[in-house]
Amino acid sequence: MAEPTKTLCPYCGVGCGLEVMAPAQPGKAVNRDKDGTPIWFVRGDRTHPSSQGMVCVKGATIAESLHKDRLRYPMMRESLDQPFRQVSWDDAIVAIVNRIQVVRFTQGPDAICMYGSGQFQTEDYYIAQKLIKGCLGTNNFDANSRLCMSSAVSGYIQSFGADGPPCCYDDLDETDCAFLIGTNTAECHPILYNRLRKHHKKHRNVKLVVVDPRRTATADGADLHLAIKPGTDIDLMNGIAYLLWRWHDLDHAFIETHTNGFDQFVEVIRHYPPPVVAERCGISEADLSMAAHFWARSQRILSMWSMGVNQSSEGTAKVRSIINLHLMTGQIGKPGAGPFSLTGQPNAMGGREAGGLSHLLPGYRTVQNAQHREDVERFWGLPPGKISPSPGRTAWEMILGLEMGEVGLFWVAATNPAVSMPDLERTKAALKRSPFTIYQDCYTPTEMVDYAHILLPAAQWSEKTGVMTNSERRITLCSQFRTPPGEAKPDWLIFAEVGRRLGFAKQFAYNYSAEVYKEFARLTQGQPCDQSELSHTYLFEHGATQWANPAAQASDLPEKPGLLGLVRPAPAAVSSRLYVDHQFHTPDKRARFGAYHSRGLAEPPDDRYPFVLTTGRLYGHWHTQSRTGRIEKLRVMHPNPFIEIHPKDAEKLGVKSDEWVEVRSRRGMARFPVLVTKAIAPGTVFVPMHWGALWADQAEANALTHAEACPDSRQPELKACAVEILPI
Ligand code: SF4
Repeated sequence: MAEPTKTLCPYCGVGCGLEVMAPAQPGKAVNRDKDGTPIWFVRGDRTHPSSQGMVCVKGATIAESLHKDRLRYPMMRESLDQPFRQVSWDDAIVAIVNRIQVVRFTQGPDAICMYGSGQFQTEDYYIAQKLIKGCLGTNNFDANSRLCMSSAVSGYIQSFGADGPPCCYDDLDETDCAFLIGTNTAECHPILYNRLRKHHKKHRNVKLVVVDPRRTATADGADLHLAIKPGTDIDLMNGIAYLLWRWHDLDHAFIETHTNGFDQFVEVIRHYPPPVVAERCGISEADLSMAAHFWARSQRILSMWSMGVNQSSEGTAKVRSIINLHLMTGQIGKPGAGPFSLTGQPNAMGGREAGGLSHLLPGYRTVQNAQHREDVERFWGLPPGKISPSPGRTAWEMILGLEMGEVGLFWVAATNPAVSMPDLERTKAALKRSPFTIYQDCYTPTEMVDYAHILLPAAQWSEKTGVMTNSERRITLCSQFRTPPGEAKPDWLIFAEVGRRLGFAKQFAYNYSAEVYKEFARLTQGQPCDQSELSHTYLFEHGATQWANPAAQASDLPEKPGLLGLVRPAPAAVSSRLYVDHQFHTPDKRARFGAYHSRGLAEPPDDRYPFVLTTGRLYGHWHTQSRTGRIEKLRVMHPNPFIEIHPKDAEKLGVKSDEWVEVRSRRGMARFPVLVTKAIAPGTVFVPMHWGALWADQAEANALTHAEACPDSRQPELKACAVEILPI
């Protein structure tokens, strides 16, 4: 067989390494899918340090999605009721540039919005920031990561002074207790869960605690499952903190030397004694005590979370409440310990590094910091004051801007807000009001196509070379291995072309994505996510590499015997942790406790809407199914949407499994077949979020959800809303 191309799975933030080989290999039958189309061979990359050859069903079947329903040519139409017509790239770019100029000079640059994606490679993210925040002078770039993990970003920044999960995957093999809260890791980050379960099964003393209102596949393997009521996470964590404080199970030296704010924190947690917490959370005092006992007795505690914590109107407070437990017990900066946020998307982390949210600039800088703006303006060759000091519109604020007629140009790339935004009826009405929407994606149809004036065909990850950073801060070079279909182009190249046509030829003088990454990496020098030593060539030669672990650290590693004498391990093979010296990124180098009372759900159940609806993901599907809906094996695995209802509630409602119900919230309605199961707690129902109008009729979870957001992270509370249920 020919040498495989090394790349990364483009689905979830685990970031498993893949090896791909052409469909036709010497001495082998051509690899074909069921329709007879030749497809690439895909297997796990055993040399990738994050995944060691493992892949889940999504990674294993990815090749089947590469050729199906691709958008091949630029298309345009004047209004949404007209059919699209194929146009040249030149015509499409001219139309976009003209529209940008009109909007800039009539409404101002803040009437331009770009909504991007954690599917971008870092090069795409970086060029988009340069175009929108630098050259156009508006910070209206946001990404679908706002809906996914922006609470983790603000929690880390507020507690540690900088973003960045401090842990690594090796911690899964070294922990004494894994505390999983708001994460169905078994289905959403399966390769990490398999690794953790292996460690858990092998070492009987290792504990696994799962906090989730549902009895998920993750909870099935736990020593302790705390099925708390939705919205009571902070009660639980303050309750655990209360017990640790009362038991004097604190790391006083760590608190004294490396933190601020402990006394204010104690003033809050003293109001969370076990009877109060158990009653609010709907769990027993014994289970609460057992959870606190695990925190008190474990030498190394690793907490992990994802959307169940982040997608909340108090998301930042929840993240900081998790971090508080680590700070009071000194559980950070050592193997097997730390607060570890699991990112949903393949390059949400790279997006954070490249400044891909509306308050950020590249290199973990922020738009509100004058020095940061000045650094970036100088680096980009722009006049002082070009970058706005005001944070731009977040994802939902872009929808509100469309609703109010304040947005003159809306550019959506690699994401499908017509399914994934909250309050979908309102979202769709706002999208319809857009005077000019550019939709840049790989696939057609998607639900978003109906709302576009211009369609731009994007090359997807297999058709361009760039880097992605996974949840453990490991950067992988994803090399191109196939030709883009039709006239599809890499996202960064499209943004750069628009930038050049707008008169910024010097700023966008690139021929290759390697030049883009080199420039971006240079801009991270001296920043917490410093990757200035890295380049495409370095990553090609050394393999996937973590930041905060370049060659400098490797030189400190003990040499080991090799064939030709003593050798040091390659940097890529090393796992790094942040804060091993307990020096944080705050001005005084101390981490900060965050003292929060629980506020509960933004929309609690009441007599009219008595159930809490929670939403989530399934093992085989990804987001809005743009890829996985086109892969037969995954469609067969999860053919239809459904609603989980507890047997007691089903009895009260008079419904059985497979019968249909209508679910209504204050905003909208959806219909689902019922799955009666004890996996869900009474009073709560669960619906997967993958089905948009393209894949099922009236089964959109987000027709029901609301946009109430965390005041710090601006992340909407997609995880919970109040609904009523009516048998059909
Ligand atoms: Fe891809 Fe995530 Fe599955 Fe790994 S765990 S193969 S990154 S979807």
